[in-house]
Amino acid sequence: MSVSDLIDQLRESVGPTSVFDPADLPSATTDVRGVHQGAAVTIVRPATTEEVAAVVRICSDHGAVIVTQGGNTGMSGGSVPVDDESGRPSVIVLLDRMNKIESLSPDGFWATVEAGVTIEQLQAAASAAGLMFAPDWGARGTATIGGAVSTNAGGINVLAFGPIRDHILGLEVVFPDGQTWNGVRALRKDSSGYDIKHLIIGSEGTLGIVTRVTVKLLPAISHESTAMAAIVSISDLAEIARLARAGTNGTLTALELIPEMGVAAVVDKLGWPRPLETRADWYVLIRYGGSDPVNSDLAEFLQRAVNRGLLTDAVVADSRRQEEALWLLRDEISPPGLMPHNKLALKMDAAVPIDRVSDFIDAVEATCRDLAPGAAPYIFGHIGDGNIHVHVLPGESDVDTFLGIKPALGRALDQRTWDLGGTISAEHGVGQELIDRIIGQKPAIEFEMMRNIKRLFDPDNLLNPGKTIPRQPAS
Ligand SMILES: Cc1cc2nc3c(=O)[nH]c(=O)nc-3n(C[C@H](O)[C@H](O)[C@H](O)COP(=O)(O)OP(=O)(O)OC[C@H]3O[C@@H](n4cnc5c(N)ncnc54)[C@H](O)[C@@H]3O)c2cc1C
Repeated sequence: MSVSDLIDQLRESVGPTSVFDPADLPSATTDVRGVHQGAAVTIVRPATTEEVAAVVRICSDHGAVIVTQGGNTGMSGGSVPVDDESGRPSVIVLLDRMNKIESLSPDGFWATVEAGVTIEQLQAAASAAGLMFAPDWGARGTATIGGAVSTNAGGINVLAFGPIRDHILGLEVVFPDGQTWNGVRALRKDSSGYDIKHLIIGSEGTLGIVTRVTVKLLPAISHESTAMAAIVSISDLAEIARLARAGTNGTLTALELIPEMGVAAVVDKLGWPRPLETRADWYVLIRYGGSDPVNSDLAEFLQRAVNRGLLTDAVVADSRRQEEALWLLRDEISPPGLMPHNKLALKMDAAVPIDRVSDFIDAVEATCRDLAPGAAPYIFGHIGDGNIHVHVLPGESDVDTFLGIKPALGRALDQRTWDLGGTISAEHGVGQELIDRIIGQKPAIEFEMMRNIKRLFDPDNLLNPGKTIPRQPAS
């Protein structure tokens, strides 16, 4: 069967206005960082679970590969096709039209939504009901709950509320044979055997297409207090984090590391005032939250940290507007669009045990100095979870020299991460970005189990091939 037959059948099934020529939607074939591009023969935008199932059946009949896409904000290139070695055509299934909040139970503290609902939509719906959907990160306006489930997304609130995995009660999934599994449940406890939804969470569209999700909602936080403070020495990070957690009755909700490099770039690019007059190489952005006022928790932490010589200066947000401005700064320091040559950067989304964050940063800086002098490691992120984003930029080095050393630098940095008991994929998934690098992270038996699970769900390897699961190394 030809590609034109495939496209004709898709048009018949979901209607001609839901099937697009990729040339008319170029943003769907390139990832948000502009690093990964892939060719698709068509882009389909189904509006219902039934349409998704029909699309899957047609693609399966034609042996076409399916790449599911939500907001296309993923950082690992999982949402765009790779060249399929067997030459099969790729179809992008874009779920942006499945954007309805179906039901929200203020008494049950849950909401059931379609997979294309954005994180911001969910947050707003919860807030209107006096509740909170806790997961949050800079791409909230575009990232979808289906994408978040599929990458087990994290963000700034993981420290207090956990990753997306901790917020999912139920899922509906269309599998590669076109069957739909209705696992939309609102149970807080269920000990009835294997929990299939936990296999789907973090599977990056390789096992099934998530079509509906039931999420957990929490009581809204009534009091919050945020500060940004200048750090004296990056080697004190573990002590700063320990102090931030200690003696505050669990009210610490976010702890982020901000480099001066990022502040300077945002101030320069957006013309914003500097948040803090004191200049340091590094800052922490910290938030406490709870049902009672938390100002004293924040003040106590700052006082203790200054007394111990860990912080030199701080700005405490004294209005909602100022608080939002500080968190907006955090959103803006993400490198795409901010840092020159970011597309060439060696990207890491590492996590180490929370008491080893300083060791990790030292290791990154030392390895870059040794192997790629002149390169500029741009380091920031969720230090409260031990999750550090690193984009090693060419900096002052010649671009060709940097690109020549990049693979060896990547191998060395990955090994340093593993030596510290870490992961090289904390919240962005493996996608295609890490497919050749992840192989050193886990015992061979673990990858073999993943391959077996993949074969069970998707024997013909139709869903997002070339992502997540590394190829078996040649013996
Ligand atoms: C500025 C910025 C800041 C970010 N900050 C964070 C952060 O702090 N923490 C964090 O975790 N991430 C962050 N991200 C990454 C990104 O927002 C998340 O990975 C998000 O979960 C992706 O959602 P999406 O809808 O855009 O998914 P996409 O990018 O469209 O897809 C991501 C993966 O999920 C699969 N997928 C998407 N939808 C479905 C579905 N319905 N069913 C099956 N598979 C599906 C895709 O095939 C792909 O493999 C950030 C991104 C940007 C641009």
